[in-house]
Amino acid sequence: MSARPLTIALAGNPNSGKTTIFNTITGTRQKVGNWPGVTVEKKEGRVEKFGRSLTIIDLPGTYSLTPFSIEEIVARDYILEQRPDVVIDIIDASNLERSLYLATQLRELDCKIVFALNMIDLARSRGVKIDGDKLSSLLDVPVVFTVGNRREGIDALLKCAIALADADSPPEARRRVKYSQDIEASLRVLQEMIDPSLAARLGYNARWTAVKLIEDDQVIKAHLQARAGEASQPLLEAAQQQRRQLYERYNDEPEIITTDERYGYISGIIKEVYTTSTQERVDISRHIDRLLTNRFLGLPIFFLFIWAMFQATFSLGAYPMDWIESAVGAVSSILDHLLPAGMVKALLLDGIVAGVGSVIVFLPNILILFFCIALFEDTGYMSRAAFLMDKVMHLIGLHGKSFIPMLMGFGCNVPAIMATRTLESRKDRILTILITPFMSCSAKLPVYIVLAGTFFGARAGTVIFAIYLAGILLAILFGRLFRDALLKGEDAPFVMELPPYRIPMLKSLLIHMWDRSKMFLRKMGGVILAGSIVIWVLSTFPRQYDTSASFAAQRESLTARYATEITAAADADRGVLQVERDQQMRQLARQQEEARMADTYLGRLGRWIAPVFAPIGIDWRGGVALLTGFVAKEVVVSTMGVLYAVGDDQGSEALQEALRASGMQPISALSMMVFVLLYLPCVATTATIRRETGSVRWMLFSITYTTAVAWLAALLVYQSGRLLALAA
Ligand code: GDP
Ligand code: MG
Repeated sequence: MSARPLTIALAGNPNSGKTTIFNTITGTRQKVGNWPGVTVEKKEGRVEKFGRSLTIIDLPGTYSLTPFSIEEIVARDYILEQRPDVVIDIIDASNLERSLYLATQLRELDCKIVFALNMIDLARSRGVKIDGDKLSSLLDVPVVFTVGNRREGIDALLKCAIALADADSPPEARRRVKYSQDIEASLRVLQEMIDPSLAARLGYNARWTAVKLIEDDQVIKAHLQARAGEASQPLLEAAQQQRRQLYERYNDEPEIITTDERYGYISGIIKEVYTTSTQERVDISRHIDRLLTNRFLGLPIFFLFIWAMFQATFSLGAYPMDWIESAVGAVSSILDHLLPAGMVKALLLDGIVAGVGSVIVFLPNILILFFCIALFEDTGYMSRAAFLMDKVMHLIGLHGKSFIPMLMGFGCNVPAIMATRTLESRKDRILTILITPFMSCSAKLPVYIVLAGTFFGARAGTVIFAIYLAGILLAILFGRLFRDALLKGEDAPFVMELPPYRIPMLKSLLIHMWDRSKMFLRKMGGVILAGSIVIWVLSTFPRQYDTSASFAAQRESLTARYATEITAAADADRGVLQVERDQQMRQLARQQEEARMADTYLGRLGRWIAPVFAPIGIDWRGGVALLTGFVAKEVVVSTMGVLYAVGDDQGSEALQEALRASGMQPISALSMMVFVLLYLPCVATTATIRRETGSVRWMLFSITYTTAVAWLAALLVYQSGRLLALAA
C-alpha cells in the first residue's frame, strides 16, 4: 500500500462533539499543546487506521470563519496555510441551521471537506429528519451520520475522509454560494485581476480571495501585502472601489450583505433537507388551511360540512333506526300477547314502551352526531371553524373562541356552557352562555326527525339543517342585541390557536362519541322513563267510561251499515268498501280516545294551555308535549308517543301515522320545530346556567327570553305560512 500519511482536521461549532470524536478516533495517543503564539489549546493525535497513518487535529470550536476571534483566525489559518488533506466539519445535527453557517464558509475554502452529522440521535429523538443524500448533493460534500459518544459512524467517517483525500483533485466545479448580481459582478472584477502568478504567490483560491477582499478581511489583506508586495496594490485599490460601489448600492457594508445572503442560502438548504415531524404536520396543515380557511371558500365549506353532518345523521341513522324500531315493535307485541289485559299492561305498553321506545330509536342518530362532533374536534377542524366564524362573531362583539362552546352546543348545552370557562372576560362568558342554547342540542334532534320525517319526507335533512341554521342566525342576532343593550364592552384581542391537523384515531373518536352518548342512555333510564310514566298516569286518570257506551253504539251501527252495503255490492266493489269501513272504524277509535283523553288530567291541562299554543298552530297535545320538554327535550317525543299513538297499534311507525292522521299540517310541524329549537333550555342546562353565571337572575332571564323568542318566531312561521297558503 502506498500509504501516504494523511492529516485530518476536525472543525465545528463549540459543543458539536469535536473533542468526543477526536478522543474516539485517537484514544490515548494525544498531544496537547498550544497553537503557536496564542493561548488556544491545540490537540493533536496520531493513529493507524485502515492501513493508513492519520494525524488528527482538533481545531478550536467556532461558529464562523470571519477573523473576529482568535479561535476563528487559528482555525482558518490552519486550514489555509497547513492545508490538511481533509477537513471534517462536525455538524450538530440537532442544531443544523446554526452549524451550516460554518459549513458554507468551510466549503468556500479550497479544501476537501466531509460533513459529519453528529448528535443525530438527539436530532432523531426530537423528531428531526435530515435528508443526508440531498444535503450531500446540494453542497457537493460527502455526508456521514455519527453519534460521537457511542462511536457510531466513526469508521465510516474516517473511510470517507480517506477516500476523499485519495481522490484526484479538489472538486473545482463545485457549486458555490451564489451571491446577488452586484456582488457577483464585483467578485468577477477582482477575480480577473488575480492572474495565475499572483494566485501562486498568494496560495489561495481566486474567488475566495475576492470574497474576502469584498468583505474587507484585514488578515487576508495583510497576507496579500506580505506575499505579493507591490503587485497587490492594484487589487487592493480595486477592492476598495468595488466596496464603495456596493455600499452605495446597498447602503450597507458588503460583508453584512454577504452574511445575509449566506443565511438566505442556508435557509434554502434547510427547507430542502430538514423536516421535523411537527414541521411536516405544520406544513401539511398549512396546505389544508389554505383551502379550509380560505377567505371565500372557508365558510361555504364549513356549512357544507355541517350540512353533510346532518345529512349523515339523518340518512345513515335511518338504517339502524329501522332495526331498533322492529325490536321495540317486537317487545311490544310479545308483551301484548303475554300480559293479561289490565292496568299493568296498559302502563307497560302505552306508557313505558311507547314513551321510552319512541326516544330510544334515535340512539343511532345521536351516536352519528356525536361521532361527527368528535371528528371535528379530534382532527383540529373545530378551531378552524372558530377561526372562520371569528369575523361573524365580531359582529356580535365576541371573538371566534366563543364559537367553540356554541358548536359544542350542537351536542349538549351542559358541557357547552361549561366550555365558556375558557373565555377570559365575564361579559363574554355570560353573552356566550345566553346565546348557546339556540345552538340546537342533540336531544332536540328526535323531535325534528319525527316532525320533519313525517311532514317533509325526502327534504327532511334539508329542513333540519335549516332549523339549525336558523338557531345560529338567531344566536348571532341576539348576541348583538345583548352586547349593545345588556353587556356593553369591547371584545378582548386574542390569538386563535390553530393546532396542526391530525388524523384522529378511530378508537379515540369512538370513546369520545360513547362518553357523550352514555348521557343519552342514562336519561333514557331516568327522566325519560319517569316522564313517560307520569304522562301515562296523567293521561289515563281519572278514568271515565261514560263515552264508551255511545261509541259502542256508533261502532255497531257502522258495522251493520257496511255489512248490508257489502252484501249488496258487486264483487269488485267489496274490497273498496271493506277498506273504507276499516278507515272509519279507526277514526272512530281515535275520536273515542280523544274524547277519553280530554277528560283526563292531561286533557284538562291541555285545554287550559291550548290558547297559548293555538296562535302558533300547535294543538293541545303538542302543547303538553312541549311543556314536558323542560325535563329533557327528548321527552317531547315520548309525550307525543303517549298522546298521539292511539289504538292498539304500538309499532313505532305509529307516532308518525298518528301525527299525520291528527290533521297536523306541515306548517304546524315547522312551527313546532322552531319552537323546540328556541324555547327554554332543559332542567340540566338551566342548572348549569345558574352555576356558571353564578346568578339566578341570568338563569331566569335565559328561560324567559328564549321562550318569548320561541313563541314569537313560531308565530311568525305559522302565520306567514298560513298567509302564503291562502295566497297560493
Ligand atoms: P466540542 O465542544 O465540539 O469538543 O464538544 P464535546 O466533544 O466536548 O461534546 C459536547 C457534549 O456532547 C459532550 O457531553 C458529549 O458527550 C456530547 N456528545 C458528543 N457527540 C454526541 C452525540 O453524537 N450524541 C449525543 N447525544 N451526545 C454527544
Ligand atoms: Mg472540545
